[in-house]
Amino acid sequence: MKDLLSLYPSELEKEITDAGFPAFRARQLTEWLSKGCRRFDSMSNLPKAFRIFLDGQYELFAPEVLRKQVSQIDGTVKFLWKLVDGHSVETVLMQYRYGNTVCISSQVGCRQGCAFCASTIGGLIRNLTAGEMLDEVLFTELCSGKPVSNIVLMGIGEPLDNLDNVIRFLRLISDKRGRNIGLRHITVSTCGIPEGISRLSEENLPVTLTLSLHAPFDEIRSRIMPSNHGIECVLEACRGYYAATGRRISFEYAMIRDVNDSAECAHRLARLAKPGNVHVNLIPLNYVEERVLKASSPETIRAFQTILNQEGINVTVRRRLGSDIDASCGQLRRKYNRTV
Ligand code: SAH
Repeated sequence: MKDLLSLYPSELEKEITDAGFPAFRARQLTEWLSKGCRRFDSMSNLPKAFRIFLDGQYELFAPEVLRKQVSQIDGTVKFLWKLVDGHSVETVLMQYRYGNTVCISSQVGCRQGCAFCASTIGGLIRNLTAGEMLDEVLFTELCSGKPVSNIVLMGIGEPLDNLDNVIRFLRLISDKRGRNIGLRHITVSTCGIPEGISRLSEENLPVTLTLSLHAPFDEIRSRIMPSNHGIECVLEACRGYYAATGRRISFEYAMIRDVNDSAECAHRLARLAKPGNVHVNLIPLNYVEERVLKASSPETIRAFQTILNQEGINVTVRRRLGSDIDASCGQLRRKYNRTV
């Protein structure tokens, strides 16, 4: 059975016309799919012969809500979806003044092994298809009733470890005939895989790239991020991305007590952020039950931020949305898997 939801409109049209059906049937089918309809026999304006053809060719599946949590503090909504093979991933909907942002997963699990992250604890199970990523956006909108204007690939998984499917997803979600979300409203977050960053630079997809830097010295970075490819090598690839796309990079920096929060780290981070005018986003580490690492104190974070400010760096401290619902990705899936 073929993966219908991951096809580009032109590919779908070709398959349908090759089978002898008129091209406009592809558009009708796409309309049903974009409403979340996942049963060919419910697609009432399609002729029977066409529905039988579709049924014989393609498997259709809707992600099922295993858990839905709504933050009492800020309205952040978190979904745990059951996928076609029974595995699960998380999607988070965050509401900001400028619109709704959805944070999607790109893999079931992750193989990068970051010491502070819940998503990597059970390793990588599999990649998500482009269609599954599209469905995270679509079903979040359908199940919450809230339209999404921004997307961040900051959920479970490493997007650049699943780059073919991520590129396909980016092209599909931004397609004029599809959901049509502008690439400039999409952020791809990476732990820093240089070849992946270079490949993305060549795809003519002007998404915002965020590097999860988390430490300005290789010695510290390799300790907390075992897949560290070397800071200089990663930054070189980021400079290439900026040169190719004109899109400014940002750094994510989780503040971890006594690990990466010293004044020396702040000065070194400023030195790395200055060329290319990189935006730095400081995140108080989210507590993960299985992990021993702790968040830096609010005073330490303030002092760290002050140093960066004094060095002329554009820096913000991330607001903690959904802190009452384990909104740090991977945590809900971990908890669910432990209870079933
Ligand atoms: N693999 C990608 C995207 C997924 S993680 C990446 O590494 O960027 C999204 C962000 O959350 C990353 O910056 C990641 O390092 C961070 N993160 C993971 N666990 C965290 C925790 N416990 N507290 C704060 N940030 C965390």
